[in-house]
Amino acid sequence: MSECTHDCSSCKEDCNQRNKSLLEKPHSGSKIKRVIGVVSGKGGVGKSMVTSLLAVTAMKKGFSTAILDADITGPSIPRAFGLKDHAMATEEGIYPVESAWGAAVMSLNLLMENDTDPVVWRGPVIAGAVKQFWTDVIWGERDIMFIDMPPGTGDVPLTVFQSIPVDGIVIVTSPQELVGMIVEKAVNMARLMNIPVLGLVENMSYTVCPHCGEKLHIFGKSHVDEIAKKYGIANTVQLPIDSNLTQACDDGMIEHFECDWLDDLFDKIVR
Ligand code: ADP
Repeated sequence: MSECTHDCSSCKEDCNQRNKSLLEKPHSGSKIKRVIGVVSGKGGVGKSMVTSLLAVTAMKKGFSTAILDADITGPSIPRAFGLKDHAMATEEGIYPVESAWGAAVMSLNLLMENDTDPVVWRGPVIAGAVKQFWTDVIWGERDIMFIDMPPGTGDVPLTVFQSIPVDGIVIVTSPQELVGMIVEKAVNMARLMNIPVLGLVENMSYTVCPHCGEKLHIFGKSHVDEIAKKYGIANTVQLPIDSNLTQACDDGMIEHFECDWLDDLFDKIVR
């Protein structure tokens, strides 16, 4: 290792100092016990849905819960929870919006005049906005925060990981992604940041026949366990394609969608 110049921006070494030095302090009105990031290799695989369901599972189990929507260019958390109010900003900071069951939510959509306006920001601006959701939002006391990370393994998620003390990540994939290198990239990004990979979720893994109840693996045999073994990920879950879930997300009723799909995973990753 070369001699440390304390200039992390131009250094390629992977050291603890690097990770610690860039961490931002949360707002003085925030006390968050545990932070879990939800990541995916690309958009559209169900990362926001899994973030939402994990938060609903946490609330069902009595945890005071927060959701930081860091998917700035495709924010879908407010919609899934049916949030219509705007977040309120004062001189002290920004107050998150509460969901029906009491999750504190912050998302760019809660600050925009019109939530259909596109966000045409460059990477550093996006990363800066996410950092502000950590430093300027008054989260209060929370047992657990889930971060719906920006998709991919590029500059923006990396900056977010460097600035927020994430305790662990859950990777969400589609069956097709599992056979490519996307999971490996997410695992490598977590390793670079010294962040444990707590679980691997294969979303849209199968569908259940409405007539006979048989599980139909429409994309072929699942590779989730084999990939998890390869990368030493202890916990895996396979989620079905379920049109009632799509409907619940579209209607802002995710808290009323009844399922126990993530209960076991939650118990294993939050001890
Ligand atoms: P991402 O955050 O990865 O971009 P989303 O979570 O927004 O993806 O999901 C994309 C769309 O797919 C949403 O309309 C969501 O409701 C739907 N969806 C995700 N997972 C499932 C599933 N298992 N069954 C049915 N619809 C799903």
